[in-house]
Amino acid sequence: MEADVGVISISGAGPAGLAAAITLAKAGRRVIVYERYTEVGNRFHGDLQGLENWTTEGDVLDELAGLGIAANFSATPFHEVVLFDPEGQEHIYRSEKPMAYIVHRGALPGTLDIGLKEQALAAGVEIRFGETCRKLPAGGIEAGGPHGADAIGVGYLFETDLADGAYVALSNQLAPGGYAYLLIQGGRGTLMSWMYADFHNEKQYLERCLAFFQARVKLDMKNPRRTGGAANFLYPGSARKGNLLYAGESAGFQDALWGFGMRYAMLSGRLAAQALLADRPGDYDSLWRKRLGGQLRAVLVNRYFYQRLGDNGFNILLKSIDHALQHNPDGRRWLHRYTRWRLWKRLCFPVVNHLYHSSRRAPDVGVAGCTCTWCRCRHSAL
Ligand SMILES: Cc1cc2nc3c(=O)[nH]c(=O)nc-3n(C[C@H](O)[C@H](O)[C@H](O)COP(=O)(O)OP(=O)(O)OC[C@H]3O[C@@H](n4cnc5c(N)ncnc54)[C@H](O)[C@@H]3O)c2cc1C
Repeated sequence: MEADVGVISISGAGPAGLAAAITLAKAGRRVIVYERYTEVGNRFHGDLQGLENWTTEGDVLDELAGLGIAANFSATPFHEVVLFDPEGQEHIYRSEKPMAYIVHRGALPGTLDIGLKEQALAAGVEIRFGETCRKLPAGGIEAGGPHGADAIGVGYLFETDLADGAYVALSNQLAPGGYAYLLIQGGRGTLMSWMYADFHNEKQYLERCLAFFQARVKLDMKNPRRTGGAANFLYPGSARKGNLLYAGESAGFQDALWGFGMRYAMLSGRLAAQALLADRPGDYDSLWRKRLGGQLRAVLVNRYFYQRLGDNGFNILLKSIDHALQHNPDGRRWLHRYTRWRLWKRLCFPVVNHLYHSSRRAPDVGVAGCTCTWCRCRHSAL
């Protein structure tokens, strides 16, 4: 592909690519974003997702506003989460500041994806829908999303009469190595089993999650549609390859612990753009390491231990949270501390990182009839 002189090309109109494009265009640069589908948000269909608000003291929406990304999308703060332990016992955690904001994903009005697209277009970004860029010109940003499945989400989207709420269940019977969640907001809901193992039995876990939430919170689903997808995470030695910068999940930037990747995507897109604006692409690695590196490493260490907890360990974890919150009953603060980069994690990280193997392989184009969330039809390779 021939580059127009002075144009910066970006592959992928997800949160990472669009955050980069907005930054570059607002600084007066000409930007072309290539998006292989005919609209943004193609991976999702109105899914409710949590924009986490616990990794920094300050508010995520303020941080984004400071970077020039406005909250022109629906973002509902939630201050309470109901956690179920493997026995189904409830633990309710609250916080004064929002623990997260529920946002909508996909191509519908009000979603994060449409909001970012509108900001990019208003800043003068050209988005070429339905086009891929086989070879990005030098100085471009690769932001095409995940390249494999280290975790998968399998779930349902639906309408419901249930009141707004956020529910999480820790149990390897519902979501091996991960967690099951149910988010309800404004009469719409998302139910998901977020799994880190045993992907082949995804349907069985999903049906168990459904039965669990039907029993525990009287979930009623109207017009249920299947949803899901894969996540890919690793701590990259470098997020540069040749003359290209990698942002978002394309670089492996994702919350290895629980899969909260949107914030990493937007921040890394912004940092890649900053490095290009300063005409110092070589600085990108130090920029993302400074802002995101500690967090990425901390959650990878957390994942290593969390995955080994098992149901007994989940019970102990929840008891220890209950105990900690007796002294300081702020769930957001506990989350902040849990995901912080601390001395013992620094000591563990080299070993954990050495033992961790990300499944970074390009997803194949699906085979007709395959409904797997994770393999994109690798049946022959199994
Ligand atoms: C089921 C599920 C639930 C999730 N829940 C949460 C949550 O609650 N909170 C949270 O923070 N995160 C969540 N995530 C993760 C979050 O969605 C991602 O981390 C985030 O969207 C990554 O942004 P990105 O821009 O890197 O990639 P993407 O969002 O994947 O965007 C990449 C874009 O690039 C396009 N593209 C790909 N290849 C090419 C190509 N060759 N040429 C042109 N275009 C291309 C794609 O079509 C896509 O539009 C969830 C993920 C899944 C799967």
